[in-house]
Amino acid sequence: MTPSLMKVYTSKLCTTMHVPKFELLDGGESQFFESPERREAIHRFLVEHPETFEITEQFDDFGKEPIQRVHAQDFIEYLESAFELWIAEGGHPNGVIPSTIPHKKLQIGRVKPKTSFAKAGEYCFDLSAVITKDTFKAAWNAAQITLTATKELLRLGTEYEKNMVDGAINRSHPPGLYALVRPPGHHAQSNLCGGYCYINNAAVSTQWIIDQSEKESGQAKKVAILDIDFHHGNGTQEIFYNVRNPLYTSLHSEDEYPHFTGSELEKGEGDGLGYNINIPLPKNTTDDEYIETLEKLIRESVVPYKPDYIIVSLGVDTYKEDPIAGFLVTSDAYPRMGEAIRKIGVPTLFIQEGGYCIEKLGINVGGVLRGYLGKA
Ligand SMILES: [Zn+2]
Repeated sequence: MTPSLMKVYTSKLCTTMHVPKFELLDGGESQFFESPERREAIHRFLVEHPETFEITEQFDDFGKEPIQRVHAQDFIEYLESAFELWIAEGGHPNGVIPSTIPHKKLQIGRVKPKTSFAKAGEYCFDLSAVITKDTFKAAWNAAQITLTATKELLRLGTEYEKNMVDGAINRSHPPGLYALVRPPGHHAQSNLCGGYCYINNAAVSTQWIIDQSEKESGQAKKVAILDIDFHHGNGTQEIFYNVRNPLYTSLHSEDEYPHFTGSELEKGEGDGLGYNINIPLPKNTTDDEYIETLEKLIRESVVPYKPDYIIVSLGVDTYKEDPIAGFLVTSDAYPRMGEAIRKIGVPTLFIQEGGYCIEKLGINVGGVLRGYLGKA
């Protein structure tokens, strides 16, 4: 059985409601790069390839619990009410952006944040995660769409294992799914938004696989996260820093946003020691350098972990013309990434993270997914 179609989970309901007008980037006012056009560009490409992608716009609501498994309750409540409180207290209608952030050198202070202006800094680590009227709804829907895809991943994974036991298939074509969502998630920590991210979709999905498989069979399935966004996934790292399931791995640019995380020295803590693997790459990394490092990471860390599922934080801001990144990776590299991930032989869910070169988003994301299907 060769799966030749990939199911895609998406909806306008996670994207058109969240449209901040601008962001502050490197000291200047700039267009908000994490725009609804990103999803539209990818969606267009997928629609043009019906022989490969089966798009479903339906999704279920799994409620708050799966989100609370990885985010603090007070943080979720904050996201939900932030804009309303901000406006009530006289904040600018453009959206919530912190003016003061409790920098570690400020933390001798004992003032508990009460106003919406204080909370804006308490729950956010930068100036890019603007909260507008419906930002929470969009992020909520993105998480629910991702969970809908995750549920299908578990179903396909169970079927895949059964067919394997029956000898009907080998590991050459594991099932793959794609959640085309925004806002992205991998910078969102357990109680911090930032980096265009509010709810960490990859973390929500991963924890759901672990919880659900344990509930169903008494044994938690093992998940490996492969974060191939140009930027380090500080949020996913923080959420799982003290546990050994999932394994978190990330390939990203050194000396780049979010600037203070992503070192090889961040290896996890306690039970999680050794289960957090960061590989920072130099600026100007080329196709071959990127693919070689990815294959080595897969060979030496991901495969030996023996995961049951792979969650890919799929950012294509690694692309050479991305307006906020700096590798030399071309469109030719993306199918090779997908192929390398397929060779792990494990059911995989790709979740959209970054990527801001609108004209090439479709071909680059599509390249990874087609590479995974062996259709590149
Ligand atoms: Zn990124």
